[in-house]
Amino acid sequence: MAPKPRISIHWFRRDLRLEDNHGLYRAFRDHGDVLPLFIFDTEILDKLEDKADRRVDFIHRALRTVQAELAKRGSSLLVEHGKPIEVWKRLLDRFDITVVTTNHDHEPYAIERDAAVGELLAARGIPFRTFKDISIFERGEVMKDDGGPYTVYTPYMRKWWALFTPVMSAPHPSEGLLNHLWKTEPLPMPSLEQIGFLPTDLQPPPIGFSEELLSNYEHTRDTPGINGTSRMSTHLRFGTVSVRELVRRSLESSPKYLNELIWREFYMQILWHFPNAQNAFKPAYDRIDWRNDEKEFSLWCEGCTGYPLVDAGMRELAATGLMHNRVRMVVASFLTKHLLIDWRWGEAWFAAKLLDFELSSNNGGWQWASGSGCDAAPYFRVFNPRLQQERFDPQLNYVKRWVPEYGSANYARPMVVHEAARERVLRVFKEALSGAGKAGDKQTNLFA
Ligand SMILES: Cc1cc2nc3c(=O)[nH]c(=O)nc-3n(C[C@H](O)[C@H](O)[C@H](O)COP(=O)(O)OP(=O)(O)OC[C@H]3O[C@@H](n4cnc5c(N)ncnc54)[C@H](O)[C@@H]3O)c2cc1C
Repeated sequence: MAPKPRISIHWFRRDLRLEDNHGLYRAFRDHGDVLPLFIFDTEILDKLEDKADRRVDFIHRALRTVQAELAKRGSSLLVEHGKPIEVWKRLLDRFDITVVTTNHDHEPYAIERDAAVGELLAARGIPFRTFKDISIFERGEVMKDDGGPYTVYTPYMRKWWALFTPVMSAPHPSEGLLNHLWKTEPLPMPSLEQIGFLPTDLQPPPIGFSEELLSNYEHTRDTPGINGTSRMSTHLRFGTVSVRELVRRSLESSPKYLNELIWREFYMQILWHFPNAQNAFKPAYDRIDWRNDEKEFSLWCEGCTGYPLVDAGMRELAATGLMHNRVRMVVASFLTKHLLIDWRWGEAWFAAKLLDFELSSNNGGWQWASGSGCDAAPYFRVFNPRLQQERFDPQLNYVKRWVPEYGSANYARPMVVHEAARERVLRVFKEALSGAGKAGDKQTNLFA
């Protein structure tokens, strides 16, 4: 029997690029004969109901790009499909593995998965080396002076800046060490269909954005009708761009942009310190007597609420998998406050649909909007969706793009009257938060 090939493995997860990749760089630099691996994880894929999922399509395309690059270097990506622990058992039979590198992933499921794989490898005497790659600071690296975690953004952001030095955003130049790849014929890669999925209408946001966008960002970021934001969230989610590169660029021209990247890290560390994300961060909010009307929820999902900015956002989400940040705030506020529907319903809908779905930011965003979050909008701040539209989309550029029938007789009438909905939510929230028990207001008819 031929001896098993002796290799090291870099396990890609949410770092799907060959450039400036910390774990990959360390595999090349410290070990050599590196075979990059990706596992389509059935523990995750089996839970996706819609088999035309843009995220799976996005990953598949990113892997094809990596594979084409590796083939040019006489190497290959290995793409597997299954439960990670089972896949690793098969790989141990097939290869003589000297070391495995990977980049940290802090979501609760990933922590569990990596602990199991690390144990399996350790039992065979194989080091499992893991690196920080998806953020500048992670875990408990930015803590209060008293040693506790930050739960409010502004002091966290200040401490972030105080601890930051430019060397932290220096690249890990993995792309310069590709000669340390293991040489092999291209290994077969399963098609989308072979892993049980379908091609989609995905239009991936372009990688990269202009200097002009960055320097105007502060003034354009809140206008959904123009391309005033970077649209990097999907690339950050899957690692098709390096966060260090974005930080370096923003240091030069846009501290405001960097502060948005710090929001991302703020929510990541919240999830790290408080992994039980399904509970309201402020426990009193779990006393709210949500109405949870399924018909109203459907109207919201379909973008038929009669509030044009809300409808435009929900239709943008359905059509592209993305939604402008300002509009995410408005639709989330509308669902939780105007309709009194549990933020977890909205969170789950976004989780199913968002191309850039990130557990930490999504949970943080929803809890912020409903008022239950660590650094949330106060409950009595109820966005008026009409005023938001007048302020942020005065020319109706965004609304008309996504709701072409707006202004005609075919457009839906508002499903609730704003003033009445506002009064209702204030009453229900107040009662719940004052500890007066379940408020119960399911009978009030707010239909216009
Ligand atoms: C209810 C709700 C749900 C959200 N769900 C997600 C999600 O699942 N995934 C996600 O990446 N973002 C989420 N966000 C945050 C934000 O809406 C998106 O990051 C942003 O719209 C992405 O567009 P962009 O890349 O053009 O952002 P830009 O404005 O160009 O910002 C640059 C980057 O900063 C980060 N960022 C910006 N704003 C925020 C924020 N408020 N919180 C955390 N990070 C931020 C993102 O990584 C973003 O790509 C959510 C916000 C809300 C209100």
